[in-house]
This record gives sequence, C-alpha cells and structure tokens, in this order.
Amino acid sequence: MMHTPPMKILLANPRGFCAGVYMAINVVDELLTSCPGEAIYVYHEIVHNRHVVERFRNRGVQFIESIADVPEGAIVVFSAHGVSPEVRAQARAKQLLAIDATCPLVTKVHAEAIRFAKRGWQILLIGHRTHQEVVGTRGEAPDSIQVVETPADIPHLVIVDPTKLIYLTQTTLSIDDAATVIRALKEAFPEIKEPPSSDICYATTNRQTAVRAIAPQAQLVLVVGSRNSSNSLRLTEIAEIDGTPARLIDDASELQSEWFIGVDTVLLTAGASAPEDLVHAVIESLVREFGGEVEQVDVFDERMEFGLPGSLRSLLRERGIDPEGRRISLDRERDTALFLEERGIAHHTVTLTIGRST
Ligand code: SF4
Repeated sequence: MMHTPPMKILLANPRGFCAGVYMAINVVDELLTSCPGEAIYVYHEIVHNRHVVERFRNRGVQFIESIADVPEGAIVVFSAHGVSPEVRAQARAKQLLAIDATCPLVTKVHAEAIRFAKRGWQILLIGHRTHQEVVGTRGEAPDSIQVVETPADIPHLVIVDPTKLIYLTQTTLSIDDAATVIRALKEAFPEIKEPPSSDICYATTNRQTAVRAIAPQAQLVLVVGSRNSSNSLRLTEIAEIDGTPARLIDDASELQSEWFIGVDTVLLTAGASAPEDLVHAVIESLVREFGGEVEQVDVFDERMEFGLPGSLRSLLRERGIDPEGRRISLDRERDTALFLEERGIAHHTVTLTIGRST
C-alpha cells in the first residue's frame, strides 16, 4: 500500500456488534455447546456477515432457505431478522424444535404491525422490500401492510381511510432516507400516525450518528461489514453523502493501496453484524503498512444487552442445563484495549459529546 506514514486511525465507538446480533450468535454458539452431535439448522443467515456464517458452517451448522430442508423434529434457529408467521407454522407442522433468535427490537415492530392491523388500520412499512426483516414483518399482516421504499412508491399506494393509517420502519434504515420518505408520506397523508417509538433501532442510530460526527476528521472511511448487511451499507452511504469517501470491506484482505494515496487519517467502523476481530485485523494491517496510532472516539456509551430467548432457555432446561449460568455479556472495549496492548499499538481515547444514547 502506498502512503507516507504515520497513519492516524480513528476508531468509532460504538461500532460492530449490537445487542441483537450478539444474542443471535450466542444462541447458535450455545446450541453447538449444549447439543453436541445434534444437527443445528439456521433459517437464513443468522446475521448478515459472511465471516460469522462461514465460521458456523465450519462448525457444522447448516444454513437453509426453506423449512422443507429441515428433517422432522430437528433444531431450527430463526435468525436475528425475524420470520413471518407462515415460517413458524411450517416449523410447527414438522414438529421442529424452533429456537427464536429474532432481535427483540424487530419483534417490537412485528407486535406494532399486528396490533394496528387488528384494529383495522392500514400500515405503510418503510424499508427494503426484499430484506428478510421486511418480508418477516409484512408476513404478520400481509393484507394490511404496503411496503414503501422511496417517495416514488407513494402514488401507487391503495389507501382506504387516510385517518386510519400508520407508518412503521425497518430497524436498519438510514435515518436520513427514512426522514425523506416520512416527510413525503406526511405531505401525502397529513393524518398519518407515527409509530409509538422510533423503529430504527438504537444500534443503527448510534453507528450512523458516530460516523456522521467523526467522518469530517478523516479523508477515508472504512466500514467492516458484508454487502448484504443493510446497516453496514448505510454507514458507507452516510459518510459519502457528507463528503468523505467510504469503502465497505468484509475483511483486511480487501484493502487496496490506491485508497490511501493522500490519506493520513482513516475512520474505521463496523456494521452491527461484523465481528470485532475483523476490525482488529484491519488495524493491524494499517499499522503494519503505515505505522501510526489509534484514537478511539467515544460518541455513545452503549449498554444494551439482551438475554437468551425463552425458547432456548426451555430447551436448555430440558437438557438439564441451568440457563441462568449462560449470561450474555459483550465487552468490546476491553477486548480491543487488550488487543492494542498485546500488539504494542499506540492508542488513546477521546470523547465526542453530541447527545445521549441507550
Ligand atoms: Fe436488533 Fe438493531 Fe441489531 Fe438489528 S441492528 S439486530 S434491530 S439491535
């Protein structure tokens, strides 16, 4: 890689795993530990990250796209993005041991959709039509929900009563894109109701806000994440809209020398489904090539944690394992500090105060 050392690496905090992704990964990990020798099936990618999926595949997990591919009575995990009631019914019909790793914040949107549909409201679901989360949410009330991707969809909506209309959103949208669609919906339907609380989740909001706040200090933004990760893609878009070039990389092997010409400060972040060890490998590669130091920029202090889902807790009890001892706890800051110390990489932390978070 061509560049004049040293490089300043701004490490965004928060970045990487959110509570929902961490819980979902822990669910599969726990099943592999607690049910040795049993086949574990996961419906769709457990989270949208190539490395996470490959690592589980190497440990014997089978990823399937149809419940028909799961043998009767086997264990199947529903991914963090959630599934439609139809998929749950298919699993019940085959008497599968279904473990639901849906993120509670996705479940919240499902619950809103069900509640308003039951009251006879029409729901406009802002999101990407083919994203698994949107497919799952829409499946809760397909006759009541219409998907809106952009303002261009609005003239094609079929609205029965504009006074009984609510919008909901996918959890991982760009805050700005969602705001544009919401503005257009409010113009078209002034009486449209807002969701009881924002559906764009805390992790999406925090990572986007952090990139927006820090990117002006850098000439390049590197986002660790996979192409099919909605929230990772949004991070690159936000940086670029605000004028800083951004690259989405699955891992350090994708770094290219021409990106670093004239660059002395890089902002490094990661989508909510990207493991922290991949971030470490990027830091290592940059420091090896350019020298330099890491400045962790703390924007929000995230403390959100989700416990193991009830369906897994029940299964563990059936197997004679006390689920209380299997607590999930994510300490990314400690892990990264240890990594930097071990590698002898100069680092310090600064705090950027712009608001409060969960
Ligand atoms: Fe849950 Fe948000 Fe993470 Fe998706 S990105 S798994 S909604 S916390």
